[in-house]
Amino acid sequence: MGIEKVIPTLQDLSLFWPMLSTFGTGQKVTSYNTLITGPKQANETDGPEEMYVILLDNGRTNMLKKPESRQALYCIRCGACLNACPIYKNIGGHAYETTYSGPIGSVITPHLKGMKEYNHLSYASSLCGNCTEVCPVRIDIHELLLINRHEAVKEGDNTMAEKMAWKAWKTVSLHRRLMNLGNGQLKNKMVNRIFTDWTEYRGALNFSQKTFNESWKQQQRMKGKSEATSTK
Ligand code: SF4
Repeated sequence: MGIEKVIPTLQDLSLFWPMLSTFGTGQKVTSYNTLITGPKQANETDGPEEMYVILLDNGRTNMLKKPESRQALYCIRCGACLNACPIYKNIGGHAYETTYSGPIGSVITPHLKGMKEYNHLSYASSLCGNCTEVCPVRIDIHELLLINRHEAVKEGDNTMAEKMAWKAWKTVSLHRRLMNLGNGQLKNKMVNRIFTDWTEYRGALNFSQKTFNESWKQQQRMKGKSEATSTK
């Protein structure tokens, strides 16, 4: 078992046990539970001679060292954040190709298996915050996804193509003229040809013929004209 599974005392199980099932499946208790209390005692006739519990670290102490990310280790694996996540609900667990899927899987996997190889999971989120809202142990999941993204950039784990794409996005977003340039067909052609990873699995992006800014200006002009006509 992972080292984060240890709870302080057996008494604390009365809190964690129902919490796991209530938030995971809405049951008072899950249908599979086993309490193993150790090897056979001197006065017992049945049971194993010995019992071993293997505690696995596998990158968990790396997370423990990071004050911002360590709260992810509070996770009791109830699955509530998975059920609430619009991404998980659409793509399912296998698409993550990891042991832990969904929002919390996207938070912890890059720390457990390598930021470089798995930081893309931190982007599998709309950052809607549903996951954080439903989490029984109050892990700030969507903030942790942002922290992962930040960490990946700081460590230089993002690709050159990604860096260039964000740079282009920033430049265009800061310049209204560029935003309004080539609406509709031109934007569709450019984006759908460049982002082939997107179009390989989904329908092509279809930009509107006008930006909101252009539509607003047009509406204001029309409003001005109709007001001028009514005052004549
Ligand atoms: S992060 Fe919270 S909601 Fe998600 S599985 Fe863990 S405890 Fe449950």
